[in-house]
Amino acid sequence: MGNPHIVVVPYPAQGHVIPFMELSQCLAKQGFKITFVNTEYNHNRVLKALGENSIGGEISLVSLPDGLEPSGDRNDLGKLSKSIFQVMPGKLEELIDRINMSEEENVTCIITDWSMGWALEVAEKMKIRRSIYWPAAAALLCSLICIPKLLSDGVIDGNGTPLKNRKIHLTPTMPEMDTANFVWACLGGFTAQKIIFDLMVKTNETAKTVDRIISNSAYDLEPGAFSFAPNILPIGPLLASNWLGDQRGYFWPEDSTCLKWLDQQPPMSVVYVAFGSFTVFDKTQFQELALGLELSNRPFLWVVRPDITTETNDAYPEGFQERVATRGRMIGWAPQQKVLSHPSISCFLSHCGWNSTMEGLSNGVPFLCWPYFADQFLNETYICDVWKVGLKIDKNNSGIITGEEIKNKVETVVGDENFRTRAAELKRLAKQNVGEAGYSSENFKNFIEWIKS
Ligand code: UDP
Repeated sequence: MGNPHIVVVPYPAQGHVIPFMELSQCLAKQGFKITFVNTEYNHNRVLKALGENSIGGEISLVSLPDGLEPSGDRNDLGKLSKSIFQVMPGKLEELIDRINMSEEENVTCIITDWSMGWALEVAEKMKIRRSIYWPAAAALLCSLICIPKLLSDGVIDGNGTPLKNRKIHLTPTMPEMDTANFVWACLGGFTAQKIIFDLMVKTNETAKTVDRIISNSAYDLEPGAFSFAPNILPIGPLLASNWLGDQRGYFWPEDSTCLKWLDQQPPMSVVYVAFGSFTVFDKTQFQELALGLELSNRPFLWVVRPDITTETNDAYPEGFQERVATRGRMIGWAPQQKVLSHPSISCFLSHCGWNSTMEGLSNGVPFLCWPYFADQFLNETYICDVWKVGLKIDKNNSGIITGEEIKNKVETVVGDENFRTRAAELKRLAKQNVGEAGYSSENFKNFIEWIKS
């Protein structure tokens, strides 16, 4: 028998494609053959961003249509999820049939996202093993698993709408969650919420028969969540920088010249500012952020994605770029894991997406938290209240985070040695979990044995 063949199907968002690619690289390194399925739209972006580089290993990148027109609005997550659900199952089945007819190794396992529960049904129909990879906080997955209880406790109604905005604990040992930030309730208007909520309710049923659920977290980071749901097996933080070297699967071309610039900065001096793949600022907030970085009077590296503002024209304050030219660097997309592991980084001003959270934590970098929506608030709670490796940034009465607030919080987090010390402790803990005989690496080894068996 040749190498076991796995089909990997991430949800079509950058914060899912990257960790699924990391997992695929780790599995390819173990001798598995991987077929990585993106939507056509994202596949083209990944190929374009890769340019001359290859994905490496025994990973073949393939694509399936998501059912929307090429110019369709893929930020409308309700519409996208519905369309995927209608179109992709049949296409995935055809793809697996094609692979099985043309290649030596038949597909033996599917690894997919909780948000792509339909792929599990395809696997069941085709008698292929099914597993879920959860690329966010285990506590977030617990909130999805708890939907029936949230309904019966009257926390949400049958459409997923929180009946009261309030803070809850799913269990006493899990971090506080604000019902207003339940993930299904923040992904668009009511129509999107209803579509996504219904899909999640459906996946709750499908997932009951899934063979394995693995997650990009660590037992020591979320003991409450893993005790509550012991069937979720942590295998993280699964960082390419720990295990392999290069992060792949970007939607934008990375600007690696910033690494040379970082080499020229003093140790622990640079504020790294990045808000993931989704966050968008209006002009006022964008300008306050620029002002805050200017006021902080420190070197900074700021990721300004081409689509980060609602402005089509130059949104920087007048003269900003000239004034900060000697100590500030703005780029479209960073090789983030490499940036965070660079000795010149002093703190990470972040939107607290889970991948960014794991990356900052694994590199021992203190955070300044600026969550934007959904689970980013839960991650902020972990960072500031549970692990105590960062500070929250507060909005003023008009709902704006001012330049002055940013400057003050940068000073506090950089000036207080306790944050560095805690961050170093958490880095040690994260490494211990993925290190030899660590809980995460044992789970990963067992996962591999299970696929091979
Ligand atoms: N990222 C990157 N370069 C950037 C900004 C982000 O490589 O300039 C990566 C980051 O390392 C992380 C992912 O994009 O792996 C963003 O995922 P996250 O969960 O933090 O946020 P999301 O984009 O899902 O909101």
